[in-house]
Amino acid sequence: MQSPRPVVVTLFLAFAYNTAMAQGVGYSDTPQLPGQKWKVHDIERPNPPVVDPGPAGEPAPAPSDATVLFDGSTLDAWQTADGGSAGWTILPDGAMEVKAGAGDILTKEHFGDCQLHVEWAAPAEPVGESQHRANSGVFFFGRYEIQVLDSFENQTYADGQAASLYGQYPPDVNASRKPGEWQTFDIIFEAPRFAQDGTLARPAYVTVIHNGVVVHNHRELVGATQHRNVATYAPHEPEGPIKLQDHGNPVRFRNIWVRPLAGGSDAGEHAHGAHGS
Ligand code: MG
Repeated sequence: MQSPRPVVVTLFLAFAYNTAMAQGVGYSDTPQLPGQKWKVHDIERPNPPVVDPGPAGEPAPAPSDATVLFDGSTLDAWQTADGGSAGWTILPDGAMEVKAGAGDILTKEHFGDCQLHVEWAAPAEPVGESQHRANSGVFFFGRYEIQVLDSFENQTYADGQAASLYGQYPPDVNASRKPGEWQTFDIIFEAPRFAQDGTLARPAYVTVIHNGVVVHNHRELVGATQHRNVATYAPHEPEGPIKLQDHGNPVRFRNIWVRPLAGGSDAGEHAHGAHGS
């Protein structure tokens, strides 16, 4: 007579799998990431080690050549995806807060290669688990996401935690501060280049410094962010909007400024041509 044990084990594994799925801590049925040993949102992918970045500082002053996108006074630099007024809430302390349902907000001005400074904070009292705890995001060209999430003692899949290149790479370390504390992203984004026929001539590269800690050093982006699927490139203009995500959670932002990088897309094309790569 056959032992019932395999059935029990199978049922247990199915339960564990479904529980993990329900909590959103990872997946095992997603496609393989190209050039990596992991799948998208891989439940087996280890979370990076935790680093204490030290206490939050005062807002970083905007350099004289920066374009200020938010200084606490107005959302005039921003609009909704369909060109409407940005409907997030400006708080008395000079922060803005995601207003659930108001939608993503995008810069009216477009940017190519750039240096972006943004400060954000999760609600001091954590609500929700995994991807549902203070989820937002910073998107270049409205499509390449650096994840915003409360990743202080909040388990989620590694390529979806704070400062991840969502669905592609976890940060090298978890430099998150506690919920309620201000955190900084300093991001150097090098836009992808597309050939005349729309094929990818050079991928995007991104460097991310989270709370003063380098977590991505000139990392090649796989493509435009996708959920549960492999990121892909589709041709777009040399400049595009910077987008902040309404994921339904009241994440706060303050002190956002950007510096277009000298030798932007034109110089990049020339350098590319000169090297023939
Ligand atoms: Mg997000």
